[in-house]
Order: sequence, then C-alpha cells, then structure tokens
Amino acid sequence: MTSTVATEKKVPVTVAYGDGIGPEIMDATLRIITEAGAALELERIDIGEAIYNRGLQSGIEPESWDSLRRTKVFLKAPITTPQGGGFKSLNVTVRKTLGMYANVRPCASLAPYVATKHPKMDVVIVRENEEDVYGGIEHRQTNQVAQCLKLISRPGSKRIIRYAFEYARANKRKKVTCFTKDNIMKITDGLFHRTFDEIAKEYPEIESEHWIVDIGAAKMADTPEAFDVIVMPNLYGDVLSDVAAQITGSVGLAGSANIGDHCSMFEAIHGSAPRRAGQNMANPSGLLHGAILMLVHIGQGKVAERVHNAWLKTIEDGIHTYDIYKEGVSKEKVGTREFADAVIARLGQRPSQLKEAEYEAEAHMDLSIRGAGPRPEKKRVGVDVFIDQPDGNPDRIAAAMQRVAVDGAKLTVIANRGTKVWPNGNPDTYWSDHWSCRFEADNGHFTQGHVAQLLGELEKAGFDVIKTEGLFTFNGERGYSLAQGQ
Ligand code: NAD
Repeated sequence: MTSTVATEKKVPVTVAYGDGIGPEIMDATLRIITEAGAALELERIDIGEAIYNRGLQSGIEPESWDSLRRTKVFLKAPITTPQGGGFKSLNVTVRKTLGMYANVRPCASLAPYVATKHPKMDVVIVRENEEDVYGGIEHRQTNQVAQCLKLISRPGSKRIIRYAFEYARANKRKKVTCFTKDNIMKITDGLFHRTFDEIAKEYPEIESEHWIVDIGAAKMADTPEAFDVIVMPNLYGDVLSDVAAQITGSVGLAGSANIGDHCSMFEAIHGSAPRRAGQNMANPSGLLHGAILMLVHIGQGKVAERVHNAWLKTIEDGIHTYDIYKEGVSKEKVGTREFADAVIARLGQRPSQLKEAEYEAEAHMDLSIRGAGPRPEKKRVGVDVFIDQPDGNPDRIAAAMQRVAVDGAKLTVIANRGTKVWPNGNPDTYWSDHWSCRFEADNGHFTQGHVAQLLGELEKAGFDVIKTEGLFTFNGERGYSLAQGQ
C-alpha cells in the first residue's frame, strides 16, 4: 500500500543497523515506514561492535560523520557497548559532537493491552541534553572533597524551553510543566525557571506551570495524567525520562529523539538485547516509535500518523511479540517479521479503543533564539578563595587570614561545603578539609589586582589555595550564593 507522499522528494536519512537485535528491528521498521509511504533516501553506515573491535574507541568511523553532516537525520538501532577498555559511549559522542541539545521521549500507556498502574498516562519528557553536570567537569580538590560543576546557560535554557513549547504547539499539547530545584539552586536552576516563565508568555494558548523537581517527580510517578509536556535540565531529565517510560508499563516500546540544529538522531530507548539476537523474537516497536518521531521531524507527519495508528491497531488486535504477550489479553504471539507484517496489513486503519495519533502534515517549529538583550553591567565585588586545610578551625583560619592585609579587601565569611562556619558558626557543623573564604571589597570595587595580591599574601602565610571564584553583580543583582546560615 502506498500513499500519495511517496511521490514527494525523498529526504536523505543516515541509517545504522546496530548490534544484537538491531538489524532485525531496523529491517522491520524500515519495511513498515516504506510501505506507509515514507519518502526516504537511505545512506547506511556501520557503527558499534564491529567498529569498536577494529580498535576505534568511539565506535564510529570518521567517514560516517560526513554522512551525518550531509543528511542531518540519523535513524539508529541500538548497539552493544563493550565493557571496560576505555570505550566511549557512542550515543554521548554523537549527541555532543553534533550539538543535539534536546532529548524528547513520549511516554504513553497502552492500557488495557499492556498492563500499567497508570492507564491514562500520556506524557512527553523534554530533557536538556548538553549542559548541567553533564559537562563532566569534575575536580578532586582536597583529600576529602571532590566537586562537579553544574553549568546552566541562558541560551541553552532558552533553546530547550522554546523547543518544549514549539513541540507542544506542533503536537496540540495543552500544557508545559517545568521541573527545577530552584529553592536550593537559586542561580543555576533559577535561571532555567526564569527563562521558562519568560518564554511561556510567548505561548498564551498553552498552559504553563512550574514544580520543584522532588515533589513534581513524586506527583509524576503517582498521577502522571496530571502532566502533558515536562521540560527539565539534564540530570533531572535523565532520571525522570526513565521513570516515565517505566511506569507506562512498557519500557521496551518507547522511542526517543535527540534534536540539534545540525543533526537529529532517532532511536529506541532500549539496548541491543544480545541474548535475543537473530531469533526473530525482538519487538521492533521502540525503534518504530523513533522512526515516527523522525517522520514528524522531517515533515512527513501524515506518514507518521498512518504508521502510528496502524501500530496502535495491531496492539489493540492483540498481535504481540513475546515481551508484551499476555494470556487472556493477547491473541497471537508473533516474531519480529510477523509483527511488522501485521502493522503493514493495518496501514490505513485506526485504533478503536486507544487514542488515535494525529500529526501535522509538516512540522512547523520556530526554534530561533531571539533577543539576547543588552549585556548587563558586570561588576567584580569580591572573591571566594578555597583552601585545603585538614584539621582546620574556622576561628584560627579567620585570625590568620585577617593578619594578611590587602588594602580594600575584607574577609567577610568562611564556609565549609556551603555552610557558614565563621563568624558565629555552629559548633555542630561538620568541618571537612575544604574551606571557602569570602573576601569582599570595602568600597564595593574589587579588582583582579586585589585577587592577585591576596593570593600572593595567602601563599606567603602558608595557605594551600585550591581555587578562586569571582564574586560579581549584574546590573547590581548578586550573581553568587550566600553561605547557608549567612
Ligand atoms: P537491553 O535494553 O538491551 O535489554 C534489557 C532487557 O529488555 C533484556 O531482557 C532484553 O531481552 C529486553 N529487551 C530489550 N529490547 C527488547 C526488544 N526490542 N524486544 C524484546 N525484548 C527486549 O539492555 P541491556 O541488556 O542492559 O544492554 C544490552 C546492550 O545494549 C549493552 O551493551 C548496552 O550497553 C547496550 N545499550 C545500548 C543502547 C543504545 O544503543 N541506545 C541503550 C541501552 C543499552
């Protein structure tokens, strides 16, 4: 069966068949979408085990990048990542190298055909993919203390939040929820939340709300039907997108999209299931969902709709692979190929119980980041000097530091892992060997010269300085946190 879109100009797509069950589910997926009328020009690349085994630690050959840059669209089957040996995760490499900033994962339940405690769940998780603690910028600073830098940028937040609203608009979703922890991380998560509030105003027809991530996550796990699209920074999104997929009752059925300006990647969320490989057993539904997201992305939304509805009908008709087969609910246990045949036979049909899928013929998403705005006036007002001092005592550190005189710089507070310990510290606070000593300008103006002079004097006085962090105001607004208890 072929639809009218087959006569459309073919869209180049890079395809990788992957490892384990990858080739079987890719074959099934491509067969279904081609029969549904997808107009694609496929470029095949090899990734994964075969490439790792040739000693390429990235799992991808240099020439394959040319294909990805040319087509800008990547349909990828799962691969097997070798254990140990310094091999890099191919997914992370591709995502980071090609700047895929958004991870999108629709999580919808299929009750009563797949058992779940949440029969009405239909949530899309939009996760920021590049920033937050995933820069992987970590330092061990003292014997006792290590740090990981959490970086949130304004353009990065704008881009992912705009994506979430544009996704909601294009997919007729009614609400976008933001999860952050800005009651604690007022500056980093606060920036994400503020950006969300600003961008939400541009989408008055879409409801918007913010939840603190802990209670939001609890609510999502308990009453997921209260949510529609949820956008969040990287770490929360990583954790909660897995929770969301799991509570639909069918983690093996979900697909995901990694969206970037230069290239986007579409895949199943499960792995290569090597024990099931080559047996015509695997369920191709996860990758098929990745392909549906891809078709919408490349402007073949009506083909995506045909595929999705035929798939829903197949599930409704009880034609199930072993992983979701259940006596009394399922009608027929089928293999990968037969499942694909059953979906193809239902192209043009719609589900009668499950909610029909509906996509725009073409994706209209305006993802431009507008209005950088004027640069605020940035003023240095002090410095935090971090020192390593085992068996330290805040009063003694303060007394020694106060003897280190630098004109115009005054020691104002000492903190240990973010909690104020001087002046007037609480004797119950635990002291690690990692101390942060804040020097502020007497007259509100602190120069780099002050910092350099201070570091020289502190070294002479025998302090082991680990690092410094500048204290700045932006248009007079404080750009640094106060110590707990300050
Ligand atoms: P997995 O997702 O491959 O398998 C977990 C369980 O789910 C297994 O019992 C498996 O049989 C079952 N399963 C998964 N997909 C299925 C399908 N389509 N149909 C039927 N059953 C299915 O996870 P794993 O076993 O932890 O990992 C196997 C390999 O996959 C590892 O090398 C891992 O690194 C890799 N992996 C790759 C990706 C990716 O390429 N995106 C993602 C996750 C894991």
